[in-house]
Amino acid sequence: MIDVIIIGSGPAGLMAANRLEDKKINYLLFDKNNNIGRKLLITGGTRCNVTNNYNVKEFIEQLKIKNKRFLYSTLSNFGTKHIINFFESKGVELMLEKEYQYFPKSSKSSDIVAALLQDIDQKKLIMNTAVIDIIKENDYYIVETKNKDYYAKNVIIATGSKSYPKTGSTGDGVIFGKQLGHHFMPFYPAETHVYSDYVKKNKEYLQGISLLNCNVTIKGMKKVYKGGLIFTHYGLSGPVIQNISELIYFETLKNETEVFINLTTNTDYEIKTIFELKANQKVRVIRVIEKLTIKRLARFIMKELKFAEEKVVANLSKIEISQITEKLLRFSVKIARVESISNAYINGGGILTEEINPKTMESKISKGLFFIGETLNLHGPIGGFNITIAFSTGYSAADSLGSDD
Ligand SMILES: Cc1cc2nc3c(=O)[nH]c(=O)nc-3n(C[C@H](O)[C@H](O)[C@H](O)COP(=O)(O)OP(=O)(O)OC[C@H]3O[C@@H](n4cnc5c(N)ncnc54)[C@H](O)[C@@H]3O)c2cc1C
Repeated sequence: MIDVIIIGSGPAGLMAANRLEDKKINYLLFDKNNNIGRKLLITGGTRCNVTNNYNVKEFIEQLKIKNKRFLYSTLSNFGTKHIINFFESKGVELMLEKEYQYFPKSSKSSDIVAALLQDIDQKKLIMNTAVIDIIKENDYYIVETKNKDYYAKNVIIATGSKSYPKTGSTGDGVIFGKQLGHHFMPFYPAETHVYSDYVKKNKEYLQGISLLNCNVTIKGMKKVYKGGLIFTHYGLSGPVIQNISELIYFETLKNETEVFINLTTNTDYEIKTIFELKANQKVRVIRVIEKLTIKRLARFIMKELKFAEEKVVANLSKIEISQITEKLLRFSVKIARVESISNAYINGGGILTEEINPKTMESKISKGLFFIGETLNLHGPIGGFNITIAFSTGYSAADSLGSDD
């Protein structure tokens, strides 16, 4: 009988294995892949944004999920500072970017994987072995693989979500959880881009336009989201879109949806005043719009409103001024769909945290069963939040096992 079986060699599973090594607890780690940490290696554009510099309160504040308080204990037990210390103690120097994101100084995610493997006994890593089923028998678990059944007192499920299934993350954890009495929120795409036929049709005008800090609202919602936005050949991307993609996703399930983008820093009143200025009456409309937003968008607004290039401000009707103002303040983009669950960097959804002890990640339903990382109904924005959640929950689960050091 093994003390602990970990399923999954992502950041969650590997951090749990490290803590079990520290505590000298006997364990085996299974992964269906033949190489370790396949997803970790491609994170952060193969540079791995391994954590960030937020303290527990700041970290939690930035999450959009309703159950974010769940993370309070585990991040206090093992949070961003502990992660930085962990890697530095293993000889990986980290550097800060954009004042909050940590990457390895070498810019190599492989250094992060190597550090996670440094103190792990390779004999405990059972690769190329998919877990097919987990069955509870009295006070232990039978972990079934194709060739052999294993018996364990505790099982830590670290199988991730359904994002990037080629890396091995195919959502198995929630299926195992369901069989063992748990409930889960189906996975959904998060922190990703959106598709728009409108943008695609007009890509010769829009593709590549980048707005540094604009306001975006979703149809039917009041909240204004701020951040960078990029018009791509298929739709919209950039931090503000990634941030609200999951909200857009849920809207697309109900109705056709659209987003409204603010293309100028000027107010409604200021725009109207500029068009009424005596000095501007002989100026071409396009030149005035160019001053209010970027040139390529000005040209596109002219085309959309079917205004001749030579049209001067004096020839604009009140309705036409309102139309320009509307385009500048609430540039509407209909959304066809959000990127798929498979192609989204992150998945929302997973095992319901209400059924999990927030200090230990142990199931409240089945003793000795633990869920960690993206298998849980927890996720954060881009910026090292998700790997941090994986490390933190992985550490806390393993930390709760065996006797104290
Ligand atoms: C392209 C990309 C870039 C990203 N960049 C960043 C970043 O820079 N910073 C950040 O914080 N987050 C990033 N993320 C998100 C982050 O990678 C994930 O949140 C994190 O990897 C989740 O860790 P995990 O350990 O829970 O699961 P995963 O990393 O998904 O690992 C799950 C493991 O379980 C194994 N497995 C699954 N089912 C079974 C089974 N039945 N039997 C055996 N093994 C199984 C899989 O093979 C896999 O190795 C990125 C994601 C993607 C896709």
